[in-house]
Amino acid sequence: MQDGIGRKIEYLRVSVTDRCNLRCRYCMPREGIEQFAHADCLTLEEIYRIVSVMADMGLKKVRFTGGEPMVRKNLVKLVRDVAGLPQIETVAMTTNGVLFADQVKEFAEAGLNAVNISLDTLEADQFAQITGRDELEKVLQAVDCSLEQGLKVKINCVPVRELNGMTDEQAAGSYLKVAELARKYPVDVRFIELMPIGCGREFSRITGEETLAALEARYGRVTELQRRDSDAQGADVRSGPARYVKFAGFRGRIGFIDPLSHQFCAECNRLRLTVDGRLKLCLYYAGGVDLREMLRGGASDKELREEIEKVLLKKPREHHFLQEDNTGIQREGAENRECGEKLYDIPETRRMVQIGG
Ligand code: SAM
Ligand code: SF4
Repeated sequence: MQDGIGRKIEYLRVSVTDRCNLRCRYCMPREGIEQFAHADCLTLEEIYRIVSVMADMGLKKVRFTGGEPMVRKNLVKLVRDVAGLPQIETVAMTTNGVLFADQVKEFAEAGLNAVNISLDTLEADQFAQITGRDELEKVLQAVDCSLEQGLKVKINCVPVRELNGMTDEQAAGSYLKVAELARKYPVDVRFIELMPIGCGREFSRITGEETLAALEARYGRVTELQRRDSDAQGADVRSGPARYVKFAGFRGRIGFIDPLSHQFCAECNRLRLTVDGRLKLCLYYAGGVDLREMLRGGASDKELREEIEKVLLKKPREHHFLQEDNTGIQREGAENRECGEKLYDIPETRRMVQIGG
């Protein structure tokens, strides 16, 4: 699959639910959100059909996300079916880890290769303040069990000024403990810049540069950044956006995903499928195609394929998070003129929990 400016598309992030068992403050309001009716959500069979059509078009990697993917019933069957597609080389999941330890064996046996576990702090009180639940131990168990099962494990940490610490020292004290996981375990710990999406707009990001400076102050200077290569355990994970450093004595690497300060749109290789069946072209823009309508209207595989090929040409060149003010209203000149059609100029209004990151 190729988009209109020649980027090769090989990776699909599939949101299997908009429900979540946590309430991370930068992602989901405490009172929850209005959820899609079950009838509006893709069935597992519909998701499989879309993935298999795209596998024939060149898809190589699928990541299941949410909401919290582990709250979707029978997900293990979908993982098994997708892992069974010969074209799919990597089946991954992004989870908050709370329900993962108990099921990791089943998922690994079904063909899951890799898991990203989201973890913003190792302090139990802070964890409860950030997520609204006292579940840190379960998340740490998920890390242990995933490694036991031979999964490739990455930890995703989104450091947030108001949540990790208001002074630089407090914040670093908090997120450096998360970095320590890469010393203890063969896991990559990646620091992700908070993006101004939904509740994320109410908080301040701590940039990758700031995090790196704090890490260097603690562990010594790094001279070289590795980009887009094989991961901590050696296997290839295609073209991730992270820049990596390795500190002496660490088993895993430290990664930085800085969509705002180091835009990586030129290398974007992904599409997103929302739980209500929209094939979404860019995290920032709302544009895409409603595949649910097509599936339920009786479209053939050929028709699905042709529609996907057509919409791919409209994938935006880049996001415009930085040209936006914090209300989500774009400033003049920020629209994505590449796309031509009005729908593709509209910034996303959904929350991260409804998109899947
Ligand atoms: N519930 C799962 C989890 O937490 O891993 C999967 C869905 S969650 C939306 C996926 C990732 O998005 C998490 O790592 C979360 O920290 C991140 N995330 C949520 N809101 C974000 C924001 N505004 N900016 C950057 N990352 C965000
Ligand atoms: Fe937290 Fe993930 Fe749930 Fe958002 S979707 S509230 S990041 S656990």
